[in-house]
Amino acid sequence: DTTPNSLEAYWMPFTPNRAWKRDPRFVSRAQGMHYVTPDGRQILDAIAGLWCVNAGHCHPRIVEAIRHQAGQLDYASSFGLGHPAAFEYANRLTEMAPDGFNRVFFAGSGSEAVDTALKLALAHHAIRGEGQRVKLIGRQRSYHGVGFGGLSVAGIGAQRKHYGPLLPGTSHLPHTHDPARNAFSRGRPEHGGIAFAEALEGIIQAQDPSTIAAVIVEPVAGSTGVLVPPVGYLERLREVCDRHNLLLIFDEVVTGFGRLGAPFGSQALGVMPDLICCAKGMTNGAVPMGGVLVNDRVAAGLMSQPEGMAEFMHGYTYSGHPLAAAAALATLQVYQEEGLFQRAADIAGTWEDAVHSLHDVPGVTDIRNIGLLAAIEFGPQEDKPSPARAIAARCFDKGVLIRAAGDSLVLSPPLIVSTDQINEIVETIRWAARAG
Ligand code: PMP
Repeated sequence: DTTPNSLEAYWMPFTPNRAWKRDPRFVSRAQGMHYVTPDGRQILDAIAGLWCVNAGHCHPRIVEAIRHQAGQLDYASSFGLGHPAAFEYANRLTEMAPDGFNRVFFAGSGSEAVDTALKLALAHHAIRGEGQRVKLIGRQRSYHGVGFGGLSVAGIGAQRKHYGPLLPGTSHLPHTHDPARNAFSRGRPEHGGIAFAEALEGIIQAQDPSTIAAVIVEPVAGSTGVLVPPVGYLERLREVCDRHNLLLIFDEVVTGFGRLGAPFGSQALGVMPDLICCAKGMTNGAVPMGGVLVNDRVAAGLMSQPEGMAEFMHGYTYSGHPLAAAAALATLQVYQEEGLFQRAADIAGTWEDAVHSLHDVPGVTDIRNIGLLAAIEFGPQEDKPSPARAIAARCFDKGVLIRAAGDSLVLSPPLIVSTDQINEIVETIRWAARAG
C-alpha cells in the first residue's frame, strides 16, 4: 500500500483542496470497525465511512456477493430488460419497508434518489389533472445531495451560491435547531415541535396552496449537524400536508437501514411519508446505489396510466445495476441475520450516555443524539471560529475518524460498534478538545 506520487489531478469534493493537500490523510484498507492507513495504522471509524457502512467494512458476505455477481453479469440496462438480482432485491426491500410501500424505483446515489422523488411528486399531481402543482418546500439546514432539484430544496446557502435561480417557487421551512430551549436534549427535544411545523401552514398560505406539490425533509437532518425533530414536529407536518393535498417526502439517505434502530426512520419515529429516498446503507457503502420507495397511493396512480403514455419518463443507465443489486441483497441479509437494527436500538442508550458525558468539555455548546447518531457542537467562541475541524483532525491523528460539519463533530458509527469502541470514540474527542 503506497500513497500516490502526485496529488494535483484529483479534485476532492466538499474539501478545501489546498489545505488538505498540505496535510493529506489516506486510507488504503478497511475491515469491520476500522480503516487502515498506507503505513499500517488502524483508524476506528466513527462515521461509518460517510453514514453508510452500517454493517462494518468489507463484510465477507457482501464482498463475496459482489465478486460472484461481477463474474456472472456485469451490466444489464434496466430499460426494458430485467435481471434477477434487482427484482429479488426489490421484493426483499419492500418487505422490510413500512406497510403500504410496495414499489421501489432504483437510482445510483442519494442525489439521484432525491431528484427522482421530486419528479415523482410532480408526475403524481400531473396525472391527477393538477399539473399546476409544481412548487416544492424544503427546509433550512437540510442536505439533499447535489443535483439541481436537491440543491433547490436543500437549505445550505453556501452550496447554492453561483447556481441560482434553481427551481422557481421553492420555499424553505425554518430548521428545528433551537439552542435557547433545546440545548443538550437527550433524544427528541421536548419544545417547539408544533410551532416549527405550523410554519408550513404559513408558507402554504403565502402562496396559492393549489400550486404546491410536495414537502421534503430529512426525518433527522444528518450532515448539517444531527438536528433531531422535536416531539410532534413530523406528525404535524404530515397533518398539514394531508390538509392541503401535498405529498410528504422523507429523505432517509442517512436515517434508513437501521441508523435509528428500525429499518427506516419513519418506522422509528412513527410518521409515514408518501415517498422515501434511500441510498448509503443500502449497499453498506460497497457499491453506489439509491432508490425511492413509493407508497401504494402514489404508485397506483402512476401505474394506472395507459400503456405507452409514459408519465414518468425517468431512469438512469445504472438504475438497478447488477453489482449494486447483488451487494444490496447481501447487505439486507447481513442486516437481518445479524439483527443489526435491533442491535442499534439496544446500544442507543449506552451511546446517548457516552456522548452526553462530554457536556462539560470546554467549548462544547450543545450535544444532540438519536439512535446511533450524535453531534457534539463547538460553537464559535468570542471571535474565534469553531474548533470542530481542528478537533476532528486531531482525532484522526489519534486513530479515530470523525467528521466536522460546520460547528459540530458528527458521529454515526457502524451498527456493530462495541461499548469499548464507544468509549474510545468519546475519550478521543475529550482528549482532542482539551489538546487544542
Ligand atoms: N440526502 C441526504 C440526507 C444525504 O445525507 C446525502 C449524502 N450525504 C444525500 C442525500 C446525497 O447522497 P449522494 O452523496 O449519494 O448523492
